[in-house]
Amino acid sequence: MIRRFIAYYKPVRKLLFVDMLSAILIAGIDLITPRFTSHMIDVIIPSMNVTLVLRWSFYLLIAYAIRVSLQYVVEYWGHILGVRMEFAMRKQLFAHIQQLPIRFFDNIKVGKLMSRLVNDLNDISEVAHHGPEDLLISVVLLVGSFTMMYLTQWKLALILTVLVPLMIAVGISKNLKFRKAFRELRRRVADINAQAEDNFSGIRVVKAFTAESQQEQLFDDGNQRFATSRISALKTMAEFGVSVKFFIYIIQLVVFFVGARLIISNQMSIGGLVEFLLYVQLFQQPINRISGFIMQYNQAMAGFERFLEVVDTPAQSNAGDKIDDLAISGRIRFENVTFGYGDVEEDIVLNSINIHIPEGKTLALVGPSGGGKTTLASLIPRFYEVEQGRITIDEIDIRDFDLGFLRRQIGIIQQDVFIFAGTIGENLAIAKPEASQQELIDALKKAEAWEFVSDLPSGLDTQIGQRGVKLSGGQKQRIALARVFLKNPPILILDEATSALDNKTERYIQRTLETLSVGRTTLVIAHRLSTIEKADQILVLSKDGILEEGNHTQLMNQKGFYYHLRQGEATI
Ligand code: ADP
Ligand code: MG
Repeated sequence: MIRRFIAYYKPVRKLLFVDMLSAILIAGIDLITPRFTSHMIDVIIPSMNVTLVLRWSFYLLIAYAIRVSLQYVVEYWGHILGVRMEFAMRKQLFAHIQQLPIRFFDNIKVGKLMSRLVNDLNDISEVAHHGPEDLLISVVLLVGSFTMMYLTQWKLALILTVLVPLMIAVGISKNLKFRKAFRELRRRVADINAQAEDNFSGIRVVKAFTAESQQEQLFDDGNQRFATSRISALKTMAEFGVSVKFFIYIIQLVVFFVGARLIISNQMSIGGLVEFLLYVQLFQQPINRISGFIMQYNQAMAGFERFLEVVDTPAQSNAGDKIDDLAISGRIRFENVTFGYGDVEEDIVLNSINIHIPEGKTLALVGPSGGGKTTLASLIPRFYEVEQGRITIDEIDIRDFDLGFLRRQIGIIQQDVFIFAGTIGENLAIAKPEASQQELIDALKKAEAWEFVSDLPSGLDTQIGQRGVKLSGGQKQRIALARVFLKNPPILILDEATSALDNKTERYIQRTLETLSVGRTTLVIAHRLSTIEKADQILVLSKDGILEEGNHTQLMNQKGFYYHLRQGEATI
């Protein structure tokens, strides 16, 4: 997993290099400042030479200036590195999600997918640049300062070699504890928010049932849990601060005591002692950095794992040389098609179905709800893949077509029309992005929608709101019709296209649907049987397969299931 994570650094390796180099240099400057101070104390000041003092102060000024600029590089360019990686991952993730089969979306909550796309990747980008930076700085600081200390006074350094790792270990463990506690706190806040929001939006119900005190009780519980968590979080935070300080003081004390004796016995200079004390201060940095890293790393890797899970889900197969350039006339055949959504035998929805729809003809599917009509229709554009048997269009297996080409040959109108947030024009353009204004208007006219669209304040440019809330059901259906007129496919699938509409609107739309299906091979699934009398062929489909087939007159004469359905005797 780590290896796959590292692969994402490749496009930004130059930035990573600059970031890491700056981080090392920052650590380097932090390392030499104590040494610089001891030099000031031991050599420069005793020399009583003001020009020398000035010169060395100037050196220090330069070092500080460089450090500040490097810090800017790390904080700005380092974050850019994270942002670029996040951008690339999000792009890849969204593009991949677009290619996933519908089955994938059947099995995942939209909210979950959203948080993978947005929140998880956020955490990843943070650790992407802070991670290597924090680790590198910590290592350089620790190794560097110990080297310096051993060079200055090995006896004192030896004592610190025991004490400092102990301090760092305790510090990190306490730090992790308080970070965890604060994360827990964030969850509690989210609970309070959710609860308050629930209450405010349901305030009418609360008042109607005089449930105010009950709600207060609920809120008090959440609020109490929040307060308790907060107190324990503050406790861990205080413990962290105190224990690190405690160690620092102990170590300083030891350094003072041992250092003073070494100075007295002429084994160390005063500057050397100051240098040691400054290094002890420096050791606080790795504690914070390493704990921050551990925390972020765990969080980000969990997110990265979820990211990989989606990215590794195979896209719908569309590989190889597929037919993508052919004039389709639209003859459809189902040959022994068996299909189920699950893996087990009992889940089979369609069992050995054979259907033939000649080019330009209309086949109607009727039957009880849950009989598999929608399922059958959704196999044609390969929304789901046939497992046994095959479906052909113009005698070509649909799996031999390019997926996009296949879907461009098929127009689908369903009961609920999905309208994207945006204008009417934008909603039509999804069928044909390059369509001219005139083409859009023509399509609307054919769909008998132009009348109401041209009456709207901004015509085609009218915003129709999220999911088309500003349109009536019939109007939305007409937009869907216009989309298909614009697409102009040889094959048409009408899946209960009018069942959500009232009788009068249904009759109007029905007329348009008939115009639309002229010259197209049409599969119509109808809720109201009166709408399919003119179909060339009618199939009665139930869980047990195809029960009857024939045209309206034949089926009525047969006095079977269809006849009884028509009479309203059988229940749908
Ligand atoms: P109809 O359109 O004739 O009412 P469907 O084709 O919608 O019937 O459904 C047929 C059967 O398949 C039903 O038992 C239904 O529960 C099941 N089904 C439909 N869609 C899915 C799906 N996406 N995942 C799993 N099972 C499904
Ligand atoms: Mg259905």
